[in-house]
Amino acid sequence: MFKEKIDEIDYPEYEIIVDYKGMKRPPVNSPSWQHHQWQILTYSWLRSMQPESRPVLTGILFYLNELSLFKEDLKLLKDEVQDGSTDIMPSANDLNNLLKWNTKLKAPDLSETFKNERSIRFIMTEDKSISNSLNEFDQVVAEIENSIICEVNGKGIKSSWNPNPEKRTCDACDFRTFCKKSESTKNVLRVP
Ligand code: SF4
Repeated sequence: MFKEKIDEIDYPEYEIIVDYKGMKRPPVNSPSWQHHQWQILTYSWLRSMQPESRPVLTGILFYLNELSLFKEDLKLLKDEVQDGSTDIMPSANDLNNLLKWNTKLKAPDLSETFKNERSIRFIMTEDKSISNSLNEFDQVVAEIENSIICEVNGKGIKSSWNPNPEKRTCDACDFRTFCKKSESTKNVLRVP
């Protein structure tokens, strides 16, 4: 995959964008999956704007929690494996141990190879995908600006913002007890 791109680069040196997240690898159908891609592509574009930059070969994102998953994350991984929404699937013993795991009991040990594979994500930095990510980024910035304007004009937080939440984000959010868009099931005491 990289050899072809290296051959295409008409320059003796290239660069790699590296970033990390303190979280598990998100499922491929989640907003986080796409946002992380946009983020790396936006960094790649920003880097390309600097005069001393070299062509960017690829982006690499590390999901550090994959190296030692919390039990809650392991439960999510089991769900993702069952519904096929993760791109790095376990095989052999890892698959067996995960699928037969009773989530009320001790979490199974997974192989280092599997954990390492899940912790690394390559993001190809093609011109077309960079341009798409910049458009998406512009839209997100425009939405944030509109929400801020609504809030400043007195529309209230709940009416001004239009979140696209994930359960885990909502679980950690201080607004979860009154936010109508919350996906959290923790301490729910919603104000009507
Ligand atoms: S509880 Fe509401 S404000 Fe908080 S993350 Fe979820 S959707 Fe966003």
